[in-house]
Amino acid sequence: MIIIMTNGSTRSQIDDVETKLSQLGFKTHTIYGDIKTVIGAIGDKRNLNTQTILTMPGVESIVPIMKPFKLVGRELKQIPSIVRIGEIEFGGRDIVIIAGPCAIENESTYIDTALKVRAAGASVLRGGAYKPRSSPYSFQGLAEEGLKIMKEASDVTGLKLVTEVIDTRDVELVASYVDIIQIGARNMQNFSLLREVGDAGKPVLLKRGFSATIEEWLMAAEYIAAEGNSQIILCERGIRTFETATRNTLDLSAIPVVKELSHLPVIVDPSHATGSWKYVGSMSKAAVAAGADGLIIEVHIDPSAALSDGPQSLKPEKFIDVMNDIERVAEAVDRKLKRNQDYFHQ
Ligand code: PEP
Ligand code: MN
Repeated sequence: MIIIMTNGSTRSQIDDVETKLSQLGFKTHTIYGDIKTVIGAIGDKRNLNTQTILTMPGVESIVPIMKPFKLVGRELKQIPSIVRIGEIEFGGRDIVIIAGPCAIENESTYIDTALKVRAAGASVLRGGAYKPRSSPYSFQGLAEEGLKIMKEASDVTGLKLVTEVIDTRDVELVASYVDIIQIGARNMQNFSLLREVGDAGKPVLLKRGFSATIEEWLMAAEYIAAEGNSQIILCERGIRTFETATRNTLDLSAIPVVKELSHLPVIVDPSHATGSWKYVGSMSKAAVAAGADGLIIEVHIDPSAALSDGPQSLKPEKFIDVMNDIERVAEAVDRKLKRNQDYFHQ
C-alpha cells in the first residue's frame, strides 16, 4: 500500500509513520517529494487496522497497490527513475550505449576492442568473464582473470564496466571490479542470485528471460528492489517464438509496455535478439524510436575469430555507422545520443 502524506508534512511525522509501519512488520520505501511525500509499505496487510495509520498526524490517505510488482511499478512512483553511474544517466534524456565483445578472450583483443568502442563514442564497456553457455564444452570465460582484464581496459579507456554474474558465490567479487552487474536471460528467475545482487550495492542490468512475460520480468526486478536496491536497468533481449529466421524475436512492444508499468529505465540488446550483425543496426534504430533508454551491442575487432557470438558481433567500423544512425533517430524523438567525454578529442 501507499501512504500519502499531506502537503507540508514534517520530517518527524514521516519518521513516525515509518517507525509505526516497521513495528507492524512492513518494509518501507519512502519517496520524498517537494510537495508530497509518499511511503510505500510492503508486507502482510491482513492484520492491519488501517485506521491506526490513517489517524497519525501528517497522513492524508492510504491507497492499495494493485499490481503484484510494488516497488518497481508506476503506482508507487510516477516519475521515471534515473540510474546514475558517474556522469552517465540511464532513464533521462540521453541514449546510453554499452558495447564490447561477448566475452573477454585475452588482454590484447579486449583492450583493442575497448579502444575502438571508446573511439566510436560508447560510454560503458561490456564483456563476459563468466559465460552461461548452452554447451558445457563451449568457452566458459576467464573468470577473475577476465575481471582483471576488464579493470585494466577501464583504466586505459575511462569507460565504465558491465559484466554478468551467474553464481551467488561470485557476486561480491564481480561487484568489486565492475560498475554494473548483469543478470543474464538464463538467470532472470534465479531468485537467490537476484537477492544477492540486490544486496551488492551496485546498479543491476536485468535481462529479460527468453520465456518470461513482462510481468515475470518486473517481478524479478521486484526481488532486487525488495532487498533495497532500486538501481535497476531493464534489458529487452528478445524472446523465443516460433520464428527461426532470427536467434530470438525482439519484442519492441515491451518498451512502451514496460515504460507504462514501471518507472525503471529500459534498454535493448539487438545483438542477442537477432543473432546476426546484419540486423543490429535496424533494430538499434527501431529500439531508440520506440523509447529505449539505451542499447547494449556486441562489438569485436575480428568477429570471425570470436570465441562466442561472432556472427552477431559488429566490426568496429560498422559500429561507428550504427552510432551515427542512432544519433539521428535519437534527435528525431527528442533524445540525445550520449557520447563519452573523450569522443570529440579522438
Ligand atoms: C550476454 O549479454 O552476454 C548474454 C549472455 O546475454 P543473454 O543473457 O541475454 O543471453
Ligand atoms: Mn553474447
